[in-house]
Amino acid sequence: MLDYGAMITPRTPSRAGLLPALVLLGLTACDGERPPAETAAIEDDGTIDWIVYGDTVVTMDASGRIIGGGAVAIDDGLILAVGTAAAIDAEYRASRTLHGERRVLMPGLINGHSHAAMTLLRGVADDLALMDWLNNYIFPAEVEFVDPEFVRIGTELACWEMIRGGTTTFVDMYYFPDTIAEVVERCGLRALISTTVIDQRSPDAESAADSLDKGEGYIERWKNRHPRITPIYGPHANYTLDAAQLAATRRAALEHGVPISIHLSESPFEVQYSKDTYGKTSIEMLDEIGFFEGPTIAAHVVWPTDAEIPILVERRIGVIHNPTSNMKIASGISPVAKMLEAGVLIGIGTDGAASNNDLDLWEEMRLAAFLQKVDSMDPEQLPAMTVLTMATRGGAEAIGLGDGIGALEPGKRADLIQVAFDDVHHVPTYDVVSHLVYVTDEQDVVNVIVDGQLLMHDRKILTIDTERVRREAEALAAEIKRSLASRNRGR
Ligand SMILES: [Zn+2]
Repeated sequence: MLDYGAMITPRTPSRAGLLPALVLLGLTACDGERPPAETAAIEDDGTIDWIVYGDTVVTMDASGRIIGGGAVAIDDGLILAVGTAAAIDAEYRASRTLHGERRVLMPGLINGHSHAAMTLLRGVADDLALMDWLNNYIFPAEVEFVDPEFVRIGTELACWEMIRGGTTTFVDMYYFPDTIAEVVERCGLRALISTTVIDQRSPDAESAADSLDKGEGYIERWKNRHPRITPIYGPHANYTLDAAQLAATRRAALEHGVPISIHLSESPFEVQYSKDTYGKTSIEMLDEIGFFEGPTIAAHVVWPTDAEIPILVERRIGVIHNPTSNMKIASGISPVAKMLEAGVLIGIGTDGAASNNDLDLWEEMRLAAFLQKVDSMDPEQLPAMTVLTMATRGGAEAIGLGDGIGALEPGKRADLIQVAFDDVHHVPTYDVVSHLVYVTDEQDVVNVIVDGQLLMHDRKILTIDTERVRREAEALAAEIKRSLASRNRGR
């Protein structure tokens, strides 16, 4: 049975009583195509948890199957069957259903690189070079303001935004990872959550050694604790850690059997720093010290040399493309089409909301396609289906979850979304995939299911008290504003 009550964090007395009731309504009423409720009583008779329908089902499986008038059967968080609605109806009876009229059913989106809690620093400093932005604004602001409470509120805000937009899995790198994991556990999303390793005073550690030390406790606490949460190491970059610290982080990750997420070859600064310090560009340097001897998720990878691309393939490094952030901070244009052709695993990500400034993967997909086209002056580069793959099945492979998520097929976890196609910008629709990549926005997403649990129903978030989060975020932002204003006056 799904325990929706436990996923809610009612803090406000007036809503505390209301929410579970609303959730129950959402669950049992659903869309009424099937007899609701009585789940417990009839489950033993072979009734499954869900049948979710779609006028079009975009499976994103390896054959690219798209089913007109389709449905997905779900039980115990697992996809049992995908087929035409008629075939699914003939085979299964479900306690709950979601209708598919004027809706596209597809796998949830995968955000391969984020700093979720930075939603609270959205718009604090814009229009600056990466190093100026990091060293003079972001790092100092983080040291001053970021504590577990900041991370809790900022991550809740991010999860709200991601669920609203149809993201079902994300790979996060921030501070106080226990707090991030607790938020993710409650809100129902799936995540790989890094413990950040960085050789400077940060909000949760004093140095690289200290962050590694504290990170180990976090990894031990969360390893195999929750099926939706994977604890990982997040060494920040090869310019914020030295070679010995990077190698030590990989050793720790191997010891605990967990992946690593890192910023890699992001900016011309990083590449130059690596050449000046090690006589080698970042990817070659890390390969030489054995850093890639284990699962690696590499964010950005804007400046790989021709000699480095084969290393990415050979080491099966999952590259996460962040087009908006790369454009906004003017990091450059990643050679995504070239890497894909070489066989690099590529997913897509938003980066933090301070450098994006939102967590909208639909926009990310669109910009990924446009950037490659205009950069190469070739409109055939990175077609819609390729980009949609990066946000779903390809992204799942890039973050090491290819066996479990990323496509609608039997045996995969039930992470799926329904996108309404009734808004004017979807009238008429000739090609669903074209519309998903070039037209759809976050507001079109109506229902979100992760691991068989309904997180958003008819655009209402069921697992986060959004009004409480709004109030808390605004109160915290007011403090940050006051403090920044007094700091700037003192300059
Ligand atoms: Zn980042």
